Amino acid sequence: DIGADAEVTHNRVETTDGTEIEVAANVGRPTELAAAVEQGADGVGLYRTEFLFLDRETPPSEQEQYEAYIEALEAFPNGRVVVRTLDIGGDKQVPYLDLPAEENPFLGERGIRRSLGTDKGLFKTQLRALLRAAADASGGTLSVMFPLVTTVDELDAALDCIDTVAESLQMEGSNYTIPELGVMVETPGAVFMVTEFAKRVDFLSLGTNDLAQYVMAAARENEQVADLHDPLHPPVLRAIHQSIQVAHDNDIWIGMCGEMAGNPDLTNVLVGLGIDELSMSAVTIPDVKANVIEIDQSRARDVAARTLTVETSSDVTNTIDNQ
Ligand code: PEP
Ligand code: MG
Repeated sequence: DIGADAEVTHNRVETTDGTEIEVAANVGRPTELAAAVEQGADGVGLYRTEFLFLDRETPPSEQEQYEAYIEALEAFPNGRVVVRTLDIGGDKQVPYLDLPAEENPFLGERGIRRSLGTDKGLFKTQLRALLRAAADASGGTLSVMFPLVTTVDELDAALDCIDTVAESLQMEGSNYTIPELGVMVETPGAVFMVTEFAKRVDFLSLGTNDLAQYVMAAARENEQVADLHDPLHPPVLRAIHQSIQVAHDNDIWIGMCGEMAGNPDLTNVLVGLGIDELSMSAVTIPDVKANVIEIDQSRARDVAARTLTVETSSDVTNTIDNQ
């Protein structure tokens, strides 16, 4: 268990042969921003905006959101903050938004589907706040990504919303910048269409919690099928591998912000698969950074290649344990 309980470093890290891996934090509550800075995050790889909408009676205004995004950017003057647009539905509820009772909420109107449907007004307000914050940040760089995209039409519609919002900010004479734009790869549909997605955006981010759930057809919160939503099942690993290959073939970067990104036992294999950025809860950042600086890329690639040839999750685990 190399690097367990490692010391905090605020430096960026690279493998022994000089591949820089960005190690960023997931932020899902206001207090997690400070923790991310303390633990030496290079930036924020997943800013879950749901928390801005929780514990209140009405949605936050454009100005409140703008201020929250600026605060995150100021926490990382030399880093990148990847803000995910509102991702509710499924396991993520916001009481005053009156989510319908659906028979299969994980297969229902959630993520980008709501933002392009029932919550289109909220989506545009959020994009206005984001485009303004991207322009005004004196600190880090803002990036924006869309959750649960499954079709090219959804991605095109989301990108159209960015253009519409930019035009209206332009007409008003407001300061704005179109940020770096990305899409989460967290459904099988996205994996099959990842080439088309990669041609349209600046980066991809693997949401392996949902990706494992949907590839394995096993609900992420259902203990009865906990073994099945392990991301080390070969089909999930192969989906990750394919997405990374396609991202690089299209000269864009790809990160991972699902739970597996923060598992120090998996740093070597994920770097071997070619991941450019890992985003995780702040506590695991020092361990993951300590692992990255020990990695020999050619050996890591070799282990990753072996995990892609075996046929069962236990063989994947054994391959990783015996690397
Ligand atoms: C994921 O699905 O892996 C992810 C990072 O998003 P969330 O857990 O918020 O759905
Ligand atoms: Mg998700």
